Parts: sequence; structure tokens; C-alpha cells
Amino acid sequence: MTLDIIGTIESCYPDKFGIPRQPGLAPSATATLRFNAPFDHPDGVRGLEQFSHLWISFVFHQSPARWTSLVRPPRLGGNARIGVFASRSTHRPNRLGLSLVELVGIEYDPAPILILRGHDLVDATPVVDIKPYLPWADSAENARAGFAPEPPPRLDVRLSDECQQTLSARPDGESLGLLIREVLSQDPRPAYRRHKRDERGYGVRLHDLDVQFHIETDEHPGAHESVIVVDRLIRMT
Ligand code: SAM
Repeated sequence: MTLDIIGTIESCYPDKFGIPRQPGLAPSATATLRFNAPFDHPDGVRGLEQFSHLWISFVFHQSPARWTSLVRPPRLGGNARIGVFASRSTHRPNRLGLSLVELVGIEYDPAPILILRGHDLVDATPVVDIKPYLPWADSAENARAGFAPEPPPRLDVRLSDECQQTLSARPDGESLGLLIREVLSQDPRPAYRRHKRDERGYGVRLHDLDVQFHIETDEHPGAHESVIVVDRLIRMT
């Protein structure tokens, strides 16, 4: 059985590192979906504009093709192991991903281009199917969500004065500032680094910026409050 790649994602996330674990956690994340021939006829999306959200089925093309029956979800600290089908791991048979995203609009050049928001897809992600989201069919009111009963915790994010000035000088500064806060509040670091003193500096690429940050942890007994401090925003050429 082969799957056709019907389209490709152009994403605000150039790299996997830093992308939230699920869609909706960074509502300001933007992307476009461009269709590949022969799936690029405008008829294919006729009526799609009537839906606010879409299911995107895609391939984790940046994950290796190998998979194992047990995986170690970051949500469980990166050590506990759980069945691959009880996870949303990227290391799975057929490497198929599924994301619920907001459909902001459709443009035509003349092939249709879907304008998306709130996604969790790295740039150049291959798309194998699109379906309209039906709230009455696709959301289960009393569903149990196992080891992930609610969204991941968020950290406070502080931007240095230098960063604030960089953003205020940009026409997209406000939306970029929102995206930076939404993404970094998810604490992009590897799970095993999160519960100990961490002096490292990190960088997440968002749009054309390298967002450099470090963690400050309040070490008072019983406090252990961590804050993400954004030190610099470096424009990538
Ligand atoms: N919502 C999808 C699902 O449940 O199938 C994806 C969940 S997966 C845990 C989300 C992660 O996949 C992101 O944090 C990102 O690092 C990674 N990712 C996004 N696009 C990818 C791609 N094309 N190839 C490999 N990994 C990708």
C-alpha cells in the first residue's frame, strides 16, 4: 500500500526542537499547506472554508523509520515506558501523525493554499490527508486521557529589554512575542533536564529568529519556581 503526499507544510517552526507536544498549545503558531499535483485543483477544497478546524494527517518525516513497542513519553519524565499505541510518540509504525489545527483561510494562486494556526508541525512536513473537524463527532465529552489528563504545565516567560526592543521594531513583533511566550512556556528542554539545576543556554528557532534563553530557578526550600528568561533574539540570515 503506498500513500500519496497531497501537500506540504510551510511552518513557523524550522526545527523540531521547541515545537509544543500537541497542537493548540501555541495558538499563534502559523503555517501554510500547499497542495501537490494532482491534488491541487480548487474543487478539492470547495466547502472547506465553512469549517473552522481541520484534522491534518501527516508523516513524521524527520523521525527514523524504526519503532519499538515501548516508548518513553516526555510527559512521564522520559524514563517510564508505555506502549507506542498508548502514546503520541513520533517513533511509530508508518510514522503517521494527526493534528487538529485552526483553518484561518484559503488563498488561491490559483492552486489552493490553506492558512493554518495553532499547529505542531515542523517545516516541510508531508501531508497525506485533510478532513474537516466535526465537534459533535470528534470530541468525547467524558473521555479519560490516561497519563495526560490535562495540558502540560507552563512556566513564566520573561523577555529581556533587548528582546522587547527587537520585537517592537518589527511589524510582526506583537504576534512573534505571543508565539515566543506560548512556545517557551512549554519548557522545550528535554524532560530529563527539567528537575535539576540547569545552567545551560538554549536556542529555539521561530520564523526567522533564533530565540536564545536560559532557566532561572528559585532555590528557596519548597519553592523551586522556574522562569524562562529570553536573553537574545538573533535574526537568521
Ligand atoms: N499531534 C500529533 C499527533 O498526535 O500525532 C503530533 C504529536 S508529536 C508528540 C508532536 C511533536 O512532533 C512535535 O513536538 C515535534 O517535535 C514533532 N514533529 C512535528 N513535525 C514532525 C515531522 N514532520 N517529523 C518528525 N517529528 C515532527
